[in-house]
Amino acid sequence: MATLGNPTNTIAVLQKYHFNFQKKFGQNFLVDANILEKIILSADIKSDDCVLEIGPGIGTMTQYLCENAREVVAVEIDKKLIPILKEDTLSSYNNVTIINEDILKVDMNAIVREKNAGKPIKVVANLPYYITTPIIMGLFESHVPLESITVMVQKEVAQRMQVGPGTKDYGALSLAVQYYAEPKVMMSVPASCFMPRPNVDSAVIKLTHHEKPPVQVKEEKRMFDIIRAAFNQRRKTLVNSLNNAEGLNLNKENILAVLESMGLPATVRGEALTLAQFAYLADFVKN
Ligand code: SAM
Repeated sequence: MATLGNPTNTIAVLQKYHFNFQKKFGQNFLVDANILEKIILSADIKSDDCVLEIGPGIGTMTQYLCENAREVVAVEIDKKLIPILKEDTLSSYNNVTIINEDILKVDMNAIVREKNAGKPIKVVANLPYYITTPIIMGLFESHVPLESITVMVQKEVAQRMQVGPGTKDYGALSLAVQYYAEPKVMMSVPASCFMPRPNVDSAVIKLTHHEKPPVQVKEEKRMFDIIRAAFNQRRKTLVNSLNNAEGLNLNKENILAVLESMGLPATVRGEALTLAQFAYLADFVKN
């Protein structure tokens, strides 16, 4: 079994198995040991941790996780990678379970019950960028017991997750992530650390799950429907965006009255509101 995390050994494994990269699966494998070590440190992996890795690829980061954690579950969609992981790169580890599935279809709660007695796990991944948001939101919204999510994402997406009101990157993703977790960008990662090189810059972000959300809201789903509608038409005022939103069935006068009670002008846009203000709006605006 070769130790991965460098171009020479990665190329040797790829050639041995005649593996061709699949663009549709967002395959950019890490080939930099220094970055891999920093990810493990950022995720704060301890010897009694149970870790979920999404998209192990040829098992580069999985090797680091297996060395540091008690238990690793790795979910990989590409069936061509499974023999590489099982017969070769992870064959000497007895603390890893490899699942050949689409992460969006896996019952994560069942895995956490089975592998960690339902206690919070840590998620670590160099994510496939084409489904970053559905993966992260899926983990949060299905209420999988989580301690933290430490992931490589596109740099702009990391930025969007951590900004506050009044900035151009602030939006539905920022609010959703910040409702569930405390985001912190841990490092930037240049394209040269991957094989093949992606044509975007990357960053590692750590999302530490809140024990309880920072704001109270009667109906989470309704708040997120309102948030999505507020940012659907960024250039419009909040009143018009919400009034136009199909499915919400809100009344313009009532939205204006609630905004006034919050001390906000009728011309305010969604990008100016904090999470607490969206929670208040969701609780008080009527259908
Ligand atoms: N962890 C490896 C590394 O760092 O070298 C590979 C990272 S690569 C950016 C993303 C991985 O996710 C690929 O192995 C890809 O096949 C896998 N993947 C893509 N879509 C997936 C999905 N829906 N479910 C599970 N794995 C997926």
